[in-house]
Amino acid sequence: MSKKVLVAGAGIGGLATALRLAKMGFEVEIVEKNNQAGGRLNQIKKDGFTFDTGPSFFSMSYEFEAFANDCGIELPFKYYSLDPLYSVNFIDNPKTFHLYRDIDKLAAQFEDIEPGFKQKMEKYLEKSGRLFHDTVDLVIKNNFDSYFAYIVTLMRVNPVHIPVLFRSFWQQVNRHFTSKEARQIISLVAFFLGRTPFDTMAIYTLLSYTEFKHDGYFNVEGGMYKIVEGLVNELEKAGVKITCNTEITGFSENAGKLDALIDKSGKTWKADAFLVNSDAAVFRNSVLKREKFSDEKMARMNWTMGYLTFYIGIKCKLPQVNHHNYYLGSNYEEYSNNI
Ligand SMILES: Cc1cc2nc3c(=O)[nH]c(=O)nc-3n(C[C@H](O)[C@H](O)[C@H](O)COP(=O)(O)OP(=O)(O)OC[C@H]3O[C@@H](n4cnc5c(N)ncnc54)[C@H](O)[C@@H]3O)c2cc1C
Repeated sequence: MSKKVLVAGAGIGGLATALRLAKMGFEVEIVEKNNQAGGRLNQIKKDGFTFDTGPSFFSMSYEFEAFANDCGIELPFKYYSLDPLYSVNFIDNPKTFHLYRDIDKLAAQFEDIEPGFKQKMEKYLEKSGRLFHDTVDLVIKNNFDSYFAYIVTLMRVNPVHIPVLFRSFWQQVNRHFTSKEARQIISLVAFFLGRTPFDTMAIYTLLSYTEFKHDGYFNVEGGMYKIVEGLVNELEKAGVKITCNTEITGFSENAGKLDALIDKSGKTWKADAFLVNSDAAVFRNSVLKREKFSDEKMARMNWTMGYLTFYIGIKCKLPQVNHHNYYLGSNYEEYSNNI
């Protein structure tokens, strides 16, 4: 008989892992606290409008292709490349900057404000690219259980990158560009990490390479939630059941080993193995009651930022608005530090 795995959480991480496990021959079941799958990658339908609520584009499309390949399926959604990647407006500059992947088209917009932009950008991307390729397998795709393990791994990274470890994203960008516009536009990607260019390590300038050179950004035909619908459909075909409106709030142990998860209504969910897709720290605090994640310790932790999001439906097209638009004021650093 195959072993049973219970997945707590039907975010994209839970869904994708559940499908991998099902394809490997495990019996898999998913419980989800919300009323539909998707987690942060979700959808609201209201008054005839449909909104993607979280992610609006993705990078590293080859990871999706590898996932489909590993599972022996056709990728259950269609995606297309974005170019420009996004557009940026400044309060004190009437020009809208479009972030084209074509370096000549990109550079043409900076001619008057950043002399030599093309050469500077090529040099910056060359450095970011080396950072990406020297760290992707060693650091980015690895899991670290402790600071010690992280530091030991960093020490194995090509030593040419050591100075970068001691700089912020903003400092690294400033070494390459002089104009306010170029500096702010190129450092915007740090916000995608839930941090700011001022408190993000320069190692993450590798994201500039992933944006402009490596793979770019992609949208999904019919909206991002098609990813979730496609995965849910594949899971159904693989016989995986998803039970929504079921929040795990407790657990039971047998001889020091996790034996079952318990939901809010008191129902016990037994399995041979458990996979938790919930935010790790929150789950350790509120469900597993780990001392290291007590309320006091959680309050002292340094969290990435949250989002205030408005979903606005309009019944016409706005030609002056691109697919992704940034509007920057005159207080970039102050805003970053206060957010
Ligand atoms: C506003 C916003 C914009 C974003 N934009 C982008 C973007 O453009 N591109 C991009 O790549 N990424 C973007 N992200 C990040 C991306 O959404 C997340 O990295 C990704 O969706 C996380 O997936 P996950 O499966 O790890 O976690 P989650 O989506 O958080 O899934 C966790 C699931 O577990 C469930 N759960 C939690 N606790 C319990 C419990 N106790 N019992 C049962 N179920 C539980 C939750 O309800 C949830 O469904 C954005 C995020 C936000 C919030």
